[in-house]
This record gives sequence, C-alpha cells and structure tokens, in this order.
Amino acid sequence: MIIYNWIAKIIVQIADRLNKNYRIRGVTIWPFIFIEKYEPKEFNDAGMRRLRKHEHCHLKQWEHYWIIGFLPVYIYQCVKYGYWNAPLEVLARKAEDE
Ligand SMILES: [Zn+2]
Repeated sequence: MIIYNWIAKIIVQIADRLNKNYRIRGVTIWPFIFIEKYEPKEFNDAGMRRLRKHEHCHLKQWEHYWIIGFLPVYIYQCVKYGYWNAPLEVLARKAEDE
C-alpha cells in the first residue's frame, strides 16, 4: 500500500535528515510505502514510476527477511558499506530499470 499523505511527508523528511548525502523521497516500512509528493516539474511521472519500483523492491526485501529481519540487515549494510553501496540499496536501484 502506497501512502502519499502528510504522514508520508513527515516520515520521508525524517529519513532525509538522517541521510546527509542523498535526497530521500520514499521510505518503505512493511507493509507501507511512504512517498513524499512533489511538484510535477520537480519530479515527473517517469521519476515517480522509478521511485515506486525502488520502494516496491524494498517491500519484497522486507518479506524476504521475514519482516523482523529486514531492518537489522539493512542498517548493518548501511553502516558497513554506506547507504549508496549497501547491497539492498543497489538491488532496489537496479529494480528501478526493470
Ligand atoms: Zn532504497
């Protein structure tokens, strides 16, 4: 389920502040995908489609790790490899092109 409302905006902004180097536009917390809505000129339909594919991949990763296992693995990878190179992030970015 994708959520675009004010709650999504707050969650995405918190994640964005935790992550200094990259702009965060979506957050997946199983079973929800939170997406912050943007002006169309800033973020067009193609960009939004890619973002939805990216976050949907994270949703599948949550399920792959039986929900409770995802966050420990994700945080561990971000600490060890950095956000951009964390294997779960690399996979989600690949999913954007599928
Ligand atoms: Zn991601």
